[in-house]
Amino acid sequence: MRYGIIADVHSNLEALRAVLDILKEENIDRFLCLGDIVGYGASPNECVEQIRRLKSEVVIGNHEWGVLHPEILPFFNPVARQAIEWTRKELFWENLKYLSGLEVVKENELFSMVHSSLYEPTGWHYIFSAEKAELSFSRMKGMICFFAHSHQAVIYSKYRQERCRGFAFPEGGEMFIEEDHRYLINPGGVGQPRDGNPQASFAIYDTELKKVEIRRCDYDIGKAKQKILKAGLPSFLAERLVYGV
Ligand code: ZN
Repeated sequence: MRYGIIADVHSNLEALRAVLDILKEENIDRFLCLGDIVGYGASPNECVEQIRRLKSEVVIGNHEWGVLHPEILPFFNPVARQAIEWTRKELFWENLKYLSGLEVVKENELFSMVHSSLYEPTGWHYIFSAEKAELSFSRMKGMICFFAHSHQAVIYSKYRQERCRGFAFPEGGEMFIEEDHRYLINPGGVGQPRDGNPQASFAIYDTELKKVEIRRCDYDIGKAKQKILKAGLPSFLAERLVYGV
């Protein structure tokens, strides 16, 4: 089985299309989407519709949660809040309905999926340290948990009961799943990478080869920027795409 793994699309249709074009050539059997399909960018309906059309497993992100639960908006920074309020007005009813049906955590015998953390999934915590990663490992059932939220490709690996180790996934990096290890893997952000590289980031998981690859690709950043400005969203959201921050 080959999985295409995407996260943090953030209404960036240009980035999503570029990633899906590559994955079309990769014999993907199923897609995993780790939430934040919307927020920040200017194409929420188009992005939700693209994801709905894929054979995919999807979990909800904090930006969808914000769209559906306006009472949590004070917890977002002003720029994110403004984009969520704009997104809520833009989304068609059927897309809102689709988002409201998404689960917070999905688990099977092989892997789990969550947007933020397994230890308090709707607390929307970032996993930026081995300490935080350990809290999620303590709740993990399978060997791998795919997570997102930080928009940075990273992996934490844990051998039996030893303390886990975290490291950045190098560009074009691949990693083999080893016996007696468990993993927390973030594929990076499709529509708003934040590791200083503006290219879209995504992953491929091959269960037969026991291999996870992180890929990066160019997309039409100029067009995504223009659409954000034309929609009247904060200009910072357009500028940050150029720098990948
Ligand atoms: Zn996000």
